[in-house]
Amino acid sequence: MKVVLTPLGRVHRSVNELVSNVLARTFNSEVTVHSELSIPGECVDSLRGQVRADCLTTWLMSRMRRESVDYDIALGIADVDGYIPGLNFVFGVAFPSLKTATVYLARLRFGVSKDGESYSKFLERMIKEVMHELGHLLGLRHCSNPRCVMHFSNSVFDTDMKSWRFCSKCFRELVARGVYVSSGAVLNS
Ligand SMILES: [Zn+2]
Ligand SMILES: [Zn+2]
Repeated sequence: MKVVLTPLGRVHRSVNELVSNVLARTFNSEVTVHSELSIPGECVDSLRGQVRADCLTTWLMSRMRRESVDYDIALGIADVDGYIPGLNFVFGVAFPSLKTATVYLARLRFGVSKDGESYSKFLERMIKEVMHELGHLLGLRHCSNPRCVMHFSNSVFDTDMKSWRFCSKCFRELVARGVYVSSGAVLNS
């Protein structure tokens, strides 16, 4: 599985490195980091001070196609606050039919200071949201197991409650779809 990871606007290098490593290990995928692309003005809602996540995800897909990037999954990461109409915010969105997802980092910093321990909490939340959107792109729906990464997060508290791993039910579903998932990315119980 080929994944192209695109920073949308400024994203700290540690984020791109961690996402690449985790995705490569978990799905045995070939991850390419695309050069940073600015968020297009058409997707910015300046009144709300947020980015339209549906707009940005569709834009990313067309941009990758226009550049003839060879990928199975396109993932964009933006260090801003995203929303879609009808919701106050989203941590991420996935459009399985477009094989494209975007993840938004601003709200994952809630309660996070600049010290090392706190920053690793931010990175941990970020990986959970990335894995969650990837799971959607690979065909998974929300899972009732609160420890499973496919459990829906309404807030960072839900995100902190769940792990970055798939429960055995979601794991089996991925395997049935022909997706390779390393055993390290599966919950024990
Ligand atoms: Zn979801
Ligand atoms: Zn699950």
